[in-house]
Formats: sequence, structure tokens, C-alpha cells
Amino acid sequence: MLTTKPDKVALILEDKCKGCHLCAKACPFDAIDGEPKQLHKVNGNCRGCGLCQEKCKLNAVEMVPKKPDAAGHEEAM
Ligand code: SF4
Ligand code: SF4
Repeated sequence: MLTTKPDKVALILEDKCKGCHLCAKACPFDAIDGEPKQLHKVNGNCRGCGLCQEKCKLNAVEMVPKKPDAAGHEEAM
């Protein structure tokens, strides 16, 4: 089945993220929310490109399989 959705998305590990903001600046899709020095979070815009993972020096970004649409809508807007 064809889909435009990514099969992987970034996940920021809460216990590792120090809020350096590098991942958010690197993301071409504006998919990472967060204020500097605070925990960052990936939003529904993530396309799974992996750029944020390359930027994070603390290994706080994991690429995880995108969950199937089990609980209804997952659209951000
Ligand atoms: S690059 Fe890593 S440590 Fe920095 S804000 Fe992103 S996830 Fe957190
Ligand atoms: S994997 Fe790509 S699109 Fe997703 S949050 Fe990271 S940089 Fe943005």
C-alpha cells in the first residue's frame, strides 16, 4: 500500500535531552518543539529524515517505528 507517511520518526529521550536546541535548528520540517535548555519534543511534522539524530551529541534522539494509526487520528492539524 502506498503511503506518504514515514515509517520511522524521531523520538527524543527525556532523560538524555539537555535542550541544546541543535536538533530543532537542524530539522528541515520544523518538527521539533522546545525552548532552549528545556526538554524538546518531536511533533507530527517529522518525516524521519534522521538529521536531528546526527546533530544530537548526547544520543538523545532515537529513530523509532512510527506507530500504526491505532488510536484514531494522529494528524497535528
Ligand atoms: S540535540 Fe539532543 S540534547 Fe539537544 S535539544 Fe535535541 S535531543 Fe535534546
Ligand atoms: S527525523 Fe528529520 S523530520 Fe524528524 S524531527 Fe528529526 S530532523 Fe526533523
